[in-house]
Amino acid sequence: MQAKLLQGKELSQKIQEEIAIKVQELKAKGGRAPHLAAVLVGNDGASETYVSHKVKACERVGFKSTLLRYSDTISEGELLAVVDELNENDDIDGFIVQLPLPKHIDMAKVIEQISPKKDVDGFHPINFGRMAANMPAYVPATPDGIIEILKRYKIETRGTHVVVVGRSQIVGTPVSILLSRAAYPGDATVTLCHRHTKDLADYTRQADILVVATGIPGMIKGDMVKKGVVVIDVGITRVADTSKQSGFTLKGDVDFDEVAPKASYITPVPGGVGPMTIASLLKNTYLASQKAIYRN
Ligand code: NAD
Repeated sequence: MQAKLLQGKELSQKIQEEIAIKVQELKAKGGRAPHLAAVLVGNDGASETYVSHKVKACERVGFKSTLLRYSDTISEGELLAVVDELNENDDIDGFIVQLPLPKHIDMAKVIEQISPKKDVDGFHPINFGRMAANMPAYVPATPDGIIEILKRYKIETRGTHVVVVGRSQIVGTPVSILLSRAAYPGDATVTLCHRHTKDLADYTRQADILVVATGIPGMIKGDMVKKGVVVIDVGITRVADTSKQSGFTLKGDVDFDEVAPKASYITPVPGGVGPMTIASLLKNTYLASQKAIYRN
């Protein structure tokens, strides 16, 4: 058996085309384009890249975007005031504060200050709670991207055993909640594993669907999965590679060469889960512009 690839890159493009058509329809009816604002503090290289991808994606689908840059010397109070202004600005449908923030700023405080109605990253505890309660909510981009992959590839989740490895607030924990909800994709029996799980392979071998988000390249080996498993590899780690011009290669948390021959479906790295996050952020911004989650 050789696994079928779950092509997140192609799927993300398709979703972005679908959103672009909706925006054209909106504008044709005299509506205004959805507007996303992004707040970038400091000049961390990776954050710069992520934000510029998000801004470019907005342009591609016809959204308006505003990038607000601040020096890493901005005080917590000043940043909270920026968030307040964005909360009040009726021209902006949704906004994100790119993480990480400098150490002197309390990230949780900033996230809590964002109006849940404009929290298109889905990090506010109210959106997290609404998601867990199976109510309309902005779902964080990476878990939402995973759900979208399962849905679009029509992968059965009801009654399956899903094993999630990694329990971060932005990936593992929300994925475990989403897949155990009474919904599709969902209705699964979910086991959530983490760094203190003993005998990890005993769990991963039971998985019908295995979601891995640890940031440890190649940790899932061929003998840790059963035949026919569906594998969602969230990890993206830069590993030194002198044969590449960039000096590195991107590795997932799954040993692809060992696991793919046993799997029925698998996400490649890169080109799997990663590109889906942009599509999900755009989707959330579109929903915000239509007041689809919160009515007023
Ligand atoms: P994190 O560092 O916040 O958490 C890692 C998790 O792995 C923890 O819950 C920890 O308990 C668990 N873990 C660590 N060692 C383990 C072990 N030996 N056995 C079992 N569990 C173990 O991670 P994160 O932010 O969720 O990111 C995980 C990976 O996903 C990273 O490579 C990151 O770059 C990637 N990521 C990708 C996207 C994307 O594709 N857009 C988004 C977010 C994260």
